Order: sequence, then structure tokens, then C-alpha cells
Amino acid sequence: SPITIGLTGGIGSGKSTVASLFNRLGIESIDADDVAREVVMPGEQCLIDIENLFGKHILNVDGTLNRAKLREIVFSSSKQLAELEAITHPAIHQKIMEHISLMKGPYCLLVHPLLFEKEKNSLCKFTIAISLPRHQQLERSMGRDNNSAEQINRIMDTQMNDEERSSRADFILKNSGTPDELNVKVIKLHEKILEILDQK
Ligand code: ATP
Repeated sequence: SPITIGLTGGIGSGKSTVASLFNRLGIESIDADDVAREVVMPGEQCLIDIENLFGKHILNVDGTLNRAKLREIVFSSSKQLAELEAITHPAIHQKIMEHISLMKGPYCLLVHPLLFEKEKNSLCKFTIAISLPRHQQLERSMGRDNNSAEQINRIMDTQMNDEERSSRADFILKNSGTPDELNVKVIKLHEKILEILDQK
């Protein structure tokens, strides 16, 4: 497996944007949010376990997971949330490891909104935090999705604040400027990482 570098940042900070800029430089990435969706697709053991735990009504008629219903259940019961996570977390972890083992290149990126919160930084040689003032996070998140300011604020409150995330990371990418400025920063960071890895 290549060396793994963690990429994190709050909602709307630019994780997907930064990952695709690295992809253009030939660096592969795996997004933990995508993996979380992948493990509950029809046919996956995880979905079978979820159905066994919560009953058939947790599925839609087409056999896919009824996410709204699941959210409703675990939102009101921390015990059931813990039971759900006991199923999903190991599966997500395993799938992330599988993906990473197939990647090529001098290093790869693990994109995770809760890299430090979920302690996935333990899988990473280095970590990158995208830093953005809260008001810009809110603006950009609202520009992209149909979420209300209230919903986004609520999500931001469940995530580590920008200062703490930045203080934990090895590298910081400030994304308060233009997309072009971000691209230049990513190219410079990529070169710096290659240099550091070469010296080891
Ligand atoms: P989430 O955690 O919600 O999945 P994310 O961290 O992956 O978000 P992106 O989707 O990459 O964030 O970016 C959020 C929005 O901000 C997108 O619409 C993106 O195009 C836009 N964006 C990213 N960087 C910039 C920038 N420097 N200037 C203007 N818009 C930007």
C-alpha cells in the first residue's frame, strides 16, 4: 500500500475540491463518506445486519436502506446509535483499508470529515487540514446543497472547530481565497510532501 495522508476539514471547507486537485496531480484518494454509503448498499453484509437489528421496515420497498427512518431511530436513542455503529464502523474501516491497499503512487489521500474525531489519523503518516472561517463554510455549504443555515450550523457544532483541527494537522491549506489560489497551494503542498517522503 502507498503511504496514506489524511485530508480533513469541516462541512463545505473544500475536501472534495482539494481531493480532485490532488487527483489531477496523479494522487489517488478515498472518501470516507463514499465508503459509508458503499457498505450499506443492497447485498452488503452490513445492510443484512442492519435489517436483522432494526427489522424489515428499515428498508425501502426496493431493498435500499431507508436513511430517513434510520436517522430518526438513532437520533432518539443513543443505545440504538451505538448498536448501529457497532455494525457500520468495522465494515467502513475494513473497506477503507481494502481501497488503500489497491492504490498506487507515492502516497494516497484518505478524505474524512471526522479524521481526528474518529481517530482515523492513526492510519495516516501525515494529516492535512483545510481551514476556512465559519461564515465562509456556511456560505459555501448553502451554495452547494439545499440545506438551511440552521442545519449546517448544527452539523458544524458536531465537528471539531477549525482552530483545533488546524493545530492537530501537519499541514494546513487555507481555502478562504479563490479556486485558483487553492490550486496553487495544492501544487506547492504536493511538491513539499514528495520532498519530505523522498528524504525518509
Ligand atoms: P462536505 O463536507 O459538505 O462534503 P467539502 O469539504 O467536500 O464539503 P466541497 O464540496 O469541496 O467541500 O466545497 C464546498 C463548496 O464550496 C463547493 O460548492 C465548492 O465548489 C465550493 N468551493 C470550494 N473551494 C472554493 C473556493 N476556493 N472558492 C469558492 N468556492 C469554493
